[in-house]
Amino acid sequence: MLVKNDPDIIKTYFEDSSNLKGGYAQEVALPHDVEELSAFVKDANLKKIPITISGGGTGTTGSRIPFGGVVISMEKFNKIHNISKENMSAVVQAGVLVDELKSACEKEGLFYTSHPTEGTASVGGTVATNASGSRSFKYGPTRKYVRRLKMVLANGEVLDLQRGEHILTKTNSAIKFPGGRERTIPIPSYTMPGVKNSAGYFAKDGMDLIDLFIGQEGTLSIIVDIELALVKKPLEIFSCFIFFKKEMDAWGFCEDLKNLSHLDTLSIEYLDSNALKLLRLKNKNVPPRMNAVIFFEQEIRKEKKDLSSEWLKLISRHKASVEDTWVAMNEKENKEFTKLRHAIPEAVNEIIKRYGFQKLSTDIAVPDDKFRDMMDFYIQAFEEDKLEHVIFGHIGESHLHVNILPKSEDELERAKRLAFSFVKKGLSLGGTVSAEHGIGKIKHKYLEEMYGKRGISEMVKIKKVLDPNFILGLGNIFPREVLNLV
Ligand SMILES: Cc1cc2nc3c(=O)[nH]c(=O)nc-3n(C[C@H](O)[C@H](O)[C@H](O)COP(=O)(O)OP(=O)(O)OC[C@H]3O[C@@H](n4cnc5c(N)ncnc54)[C@H](O)[C@@H]3O)c2cc1C
Repeated sequence: MLVKNDPDIIKTYFEDSSNLKGGYAQEVALPHDVEELSAFVKDANLKKIPITISGGGTGTTGSRIPFGGVVISMEKFNKIHNISKENMSAVVQAGVLVDELKSACEKEGLFYTSHPTEGTASVGGTVATNASGSRSFKYGPTRKYVRRLKMVLANGEVLDLQRGEHILTKTNSAIKFPGGRERTIPIPSYTMPGVKNSAGYFAKDGMDLIDLFIGQEGTLSIIVDIELALVKKPLEIFSCFIFFKKEMDAWGFCEDLKNLSHLDTLSIEYLDSNALKLLRLKNKNVPPRMNAVIFFEQEIRKEKKDLSSEWLKLISRHKASVEDTWVAMNEKENKEFTKLRHAIPEAVNEIIKRYGFQKLSTDIAVPDDKFRDMMDFYIQAFEEDKLEHVIFGHIGESHLHVNILPKSEDELERAKRLAFSFVKKGLSLGGTVSAEHGIGKIKHKYLEEMYGKRGISEMVKIKKVLDPNFILGLGNIFPREVLNLV
């Protein structure tokens, strides 16, 4: 097996987009196949060597950054096994990149719905974080499309798990694993919020075992093969940038748009006035005196219908400028638009790197009827403490990322307090602390606020069943100190 020991190469695995510092590891292993991987993990388990799994390294929570032990990189697991029109499915290795999978599907007239906007994420990483992104407005998160997972467990055993194969209930959650050993998975008692969610382990009476491994952030298994459900490729995707003078008008536009189900909206995205300033740096044609943007995509699946009059009505009703609206009418233009929308998180990451402090980016989603309460809270907070910030994201699902950009230790401390107050508010409104990015190594406190110490210890009990020596993904989801308490 290929093993890299060169410190200059190893250190490239000590970063993702969180800007978390201090990672270290003795080596990076790049297994070529399941047999090599399984033997390596078995040996590490016997020696109790921690393993951090690395996908594309685009995560936002430091979850692929190792703090000791070894890194397993999934780079060599880069094959698309099969794309089937008959089964409407793709079977891929975990290291395949999202963009590669999307293009391969499109060549077959098929569409992979998960769109974490960052195309260099690996498919395994998106399953491990239950990624979603802009298009989950129509299609839901990655979880919904996972049909089968082949995984290497912490003791080296290979588990090939089909959706529907094992249903766990609170009274019966004993499973026969491949080696013939029976293990009981204790389902946690917490209730997951009714919004899209990637915080902690999936837990529900009557849950499918496969759902436990989706969103587990590399703490329960190493995913090697994935079967994903696909849909038919739409005829076209039509998209628009709509500019508003007042941020509140953009919120009202979104609320109305959500009620027009016949428009078949694919995504509804939002940029606040600070995000718009970043957009201006990328495109000099952004109209002046505007303070908010809605970017939306709409699928055209059947015959081409002219919906322009509907859009014009909506645009006028919410005081947006029709003349300033940008419309992409074909695939090429739409790709340019989505690239422009994606330039905002990229620009935020560049600023954070330049400032040199940890990124404080929230991932809170709240129920739709609480969205304005949450927005009012953010606005009030930044009126009181004028920290530099950028708000953007998936407004269609009441899920915005508030990025606070500290430039000093003092600002960092204030930003941490502010972010925690957002978390508390979001939870009080029935939301989640992480709708798509996961907890990683930087949001433990948020997860504890959400599910309490009891919830955390219930998650640790599951980990103990599947990874008794605690070697996988140490420090992800919960701090390593709590592992010894259970
Ligand atoms: C500019 C930008 C925009 C983004 N926008 C979005 C967005 O809109 N929506 C969204 O959901 N995310 C978004 N992300 C975050 C990121 O792309 C996702 O979290 C993605 O799922 C991470 O995939 P990765 O392969 O890069 O994972 P990594 O960062 O390498 O790892 C993430 C986690 O997955 C685990 N992991 C990776 N591979 C495996 C495997 N094979 N088996 C088990 N565990 C594994 C790792 O151990 C780690 O815990 C964005 C990131 C960037 C940089």
